[in-house]
Amino acid sequence: DFDTLIVGAGQAGAQVALSLAAAGYQGTVGLVGAEPTAPYERPPLSKGFLAGTVERDALDMKSAQFWESTGVTMVTGREIVHVDPEAHLARDSHDTAYRYRTLVWAAGGTARSLPIPGTNLQGVYRLRTVEDAVSLRSALRTARRAVVIGGGYIGLETAASLRQAGLVVTVVESQSRLLARVTGSDVSDYIAHRHRVAGVQLHLGAEVSELWGRDGKVRSVRLTTGVNIPADLVLVGVGLAPNHLVLAAAGAACSDGIEVDERCRTSLADIYAIGDCAAFTSSNLGEDRVRLESVQNAVDQAKTVADALLGKPRPYVPLPWFWSHQYDIKLQTVGLQNGHDRAVLRGDPATNRFSVVYLSRGSVIAVDAVNHVRDYVQSRALVATRAVIDPDALSDSSVQLKELA
Ligand code: FAD
Repeated sequence: DFDTLIVGAGQAGAQVALSLAAAGYQGTVGLVGAEPTAPYERPPLSKGFLAGTVERDALDMKSAQFWESTGVTMVTGREIVHVDPEAHLARDSHDTAYRYRTLVWAAGGTARSLPIPGTNLQGVYRLRTVEDAVSLRSALRTARRAVVIGGGYIGLETAASLRQAGLVVTVVESQSRLLARVTGSDVSDYIAHRHRVAGVQLHLGAEVSELWGRDGKVRSVRLTTGVNIPADLVLVGVGLAPNHLVLAAAGAACSDGIEVDERCRTSLADIYAIGDCAAFTSSNLGEDRVRLESVQNAVDQAKTVADALLGKPRPYVPLPWFWSHQYDIKLQTVGLQNGHDRAVLRGDPATNRFSVVYLSRGSVIAVDAVNHVRDYVQSRALVATRAVIDPDALSDSSVQLKELA
C-alpha cells in the first residue's frame, strides 16, 4: 500500500519521488518502473553516450545509496498493466497488486516503428532506452554504412555521432526540411548545411518503402522513388507514441496522450499524468492541448504534482526549453515556435553563432539560439512575458536582447 504510487521510473516519475523526499513528505511512496534499472538521464544517449565520452554510470540520476536514503520503495523491471480507479488498485506484469491513495502516471512513450517491411531485420535500431543505446553503440564499432530514418532531434544527434565515429551516414526525412516540427526554416537550413559539410547525405521529402536484407541482416534502405541506399546499420527515429493504453482502458480521457488539466489531473479521480505521455492545457500556451517531450516539461510537471501532494496545489505554467548538441553546434530553444507569423534572424549563420526570434502578432513566442548562450539566457524573460518588440530592433544583433525588453 502506498500513499503515492508513481508509475514509470524515468525523468518525470523520479522527479516526483525526489521532490517529495526533499520536502519531507510524510506519506509512503512507491516508484514502479518497467526498465530493469534505476532512473537515468536519456539526453546523453544520442550524444555523449553514443560518442563514447559519457559512460553508463554517469547517466544515473542518483546513486543506489541516495535512493535508499529517500525512503522511496523502488520496484524495477515491473510494468503496470492494469489500473482500477474505483478500487484505487494497480497491478503489474507479475500480478502483484499495489493499493494507492494517489497515482502518478509517468510512463513516457515508446519509439514509433515504421509500417513497412524489414523493420525486424538485424541491424535495425531505435533509440529510447539505455538498452537501445548500448546495442547501437556496440553496432557502430563494426558498421560502415548507416541510414538514419527521421530528421528530428534524436535522428540528427545520432547521425552526427555516427558520422563522428567514421561511418558513412545518410539521413532520410519525409518532410521537406529537417526539424520541421520544432524549428523555423533558418535553423533547419543551417543544421542541414552543417550535416552536409560533415559529409552526411540528406534525402529530404523522401519516404522509405522498405528495409531490405539478406540472411536476416539489413542491407539497404529503399525509398518510394526507387532509390536504394546501402546500409548495415539503420536507426529508425520517427517519433514517440505516448504510453497511455493502460489508463485509457481504465477510462481516462485520451487523445494524443493522456488528457490532463492545468494541475496535471487526468479525468480519473486521484490520478495524475505527467511527462511525455501527458497532453495538457495551459493558459500561457493558448487554447490547444500540447504534449511536450522534454526534460523541462517532465521535471516541471513532476514538481507541480509533488506540490499538490504536499498540500500546495498550483497550476503548471510552463516556459518550455530544450537543447540539442550536434557536432560543435549547441542549439538552445525557449518557447514554442509553432504558429509564428514572423521569424527574425539575429546574426549570420555563416559564423556558426546566431539566433532566431519567433513572433506571433508582434509578441515574442520563442527563440532558437545557436552557439549563443547570451541570447538564449536573455530571451527567456522575453518569451515568458510575450514581450512586444519592434522586429527591426530585434534584427540588430549588436544590441543585446535584454536592452530591448
Ligand atoms: P521517460 O523518461 O521515458 O520515463 C518513462 C518510464 O516509464 C520508462 O522508463 C518506461 O519504461 C516506464 N514505463 C512505461 N510504461 C510503464 C508501465 N506500464 N509500468 C511501469 N513503467 C512503465 N529532452 C531534452 O529536454 N533535451 C534533450 O537533449 C533530449 N535528448 C533526448 C535524447 C534521447 C535519445 C531521448 C530518447 C530523449 C531525449 N529527450 C531530451 C527527451 C527526454 O528524455 C524525455 O522528454 C523525458 O525522458 C521524459 O520523461 P518521462 O518521465 O515522461 O518519460
